[in-house]
Amino acid sequence: MNRPYNFSAGPAAMPAEVLAQAASEMLDWHGCGMGVMEMSHRGKEFIAIYEQAEADLRELLAVPAHFRILFMQGGGLAENAIVPLNLSRGKAVDFVVTGSWSQKSFKEAGKYCQASVVASNEADHHTQLPDPAGWQLNEQASYVHLCSNETIHGVEFQELPDLKALGSQAPLVIDFSSHVASRAVDWSRVGLAFGGAQKNLGPAGLTLVVVREDLLGHALPICPSAFDYKTVADNGSMYNTPPTYAIYMAGLTFQWLKQQGGVPAMEQRNLAKASLLYDFIDQSSLYENRVAKNCRSRMNVPFFLRDESRNADFLAGAQTRGLLQLKGHKSVGGMRASIYNALPLEGVQALVAYLREFEQTQA
Ligand code: PMP
Repeated sequence: MNRPYNFSAGPAAMPAEVLAQAASEMLDWHGCGMGVMEMSHRGKEFIAIYEQAEADLRELLAVPAHFRILFMQGGGLAENAIVPLNLSRGKAVDFVVTGSWSQKSFKEAGKYCQASVVASNEADHHTQLPDPAGWQLNEQASYVHLCSNETIHGVEFQELPDLKALGSQAPLVIDFSSHVASRAVDWSRVGLAFGGAQKNLGPAGLTLVVVREDLLGHALPICPSAFDYKTVADNGSMYNTPPTYAIYMAGLTFQWLKQQGGVPAMEQRNLAKASLLYDFIDQSSLYENRVAKNCRSRMNVPFFLRDESRNADFLAGAQTRGLLQLKGHKSVGGMRASIYNALPLEGVQALVAYLREFEQTQA
């Protein structure tokens, strides 16, 4: 079945093979007489699904043994509170603000700790990344937070900062919601990574946390038990009922990713997709992307029509050609193409063909 290409920023396109498999298993999972939604999370069937998903994810992301993988709920925004509740010890925390998502993280953390901004690209309208050499890190900071891919502004760290080389002993916390599994993570530079699943891993409802073991066990007394990372880890993410169906869907996606050649193969594909789209936009006189070339996101490509009065026509034409959800985030306007793992190269080729066609009709 030929499906339209879906450029949503999230919840986002899922691999068609994964959806088809889930459909075929909806009423009866592997002959057990139950669908996955109907199983106890403590039964042997779901435990098998869970353990396979966790092992596959550990392999895909090359997560070292001294990190724990937690499957939680609440999304990225809940993690903006849960991380400081667990890691801040009520003290100073440093934030690098590079777009809407890190800005939100900074604001929320201020409820639980002394949050300060140590670097920002606000003056550049979130189109550059501040050079780590200039970050004003606090010696006493419990951790340093950044968003490694800003979904709205389309700014991505191409390399994570080495905090030790910058003279800081603090662990680095990254919000990798919108580029997890699209490229390798250098775990030697990370203390904790979190992300909602609904872009690159599966459906909404599942939040992934990967945390270094030594950071567990320091939650503030007010931290809800269900959000205390140590409690979650000690109970294999089953202190309370986990989002079972979302874990199952993510597990199918992990198997799909492995069949595609894993993260290295996805990274190559993502590079090819992103350069095709950026190269076309850069040479065009109608479209523009305003992000500095060395920090452009491979996943989220915001772009503008120089004649904004054409926006509605552009979107209507895209829709009739099966190119869905290209409207930009309301806070920045324009267009945004999110080209996550599940969006194939052919989808970007179809988008570029339409961009060209639409530009020619304007001439
Ligand atoms: N962080 C980033 C980078 C995001 O893209 C998003 C969602 N678009 C969030 C956090 C918020 O996630 P959620 O809606 O799952 O709380």
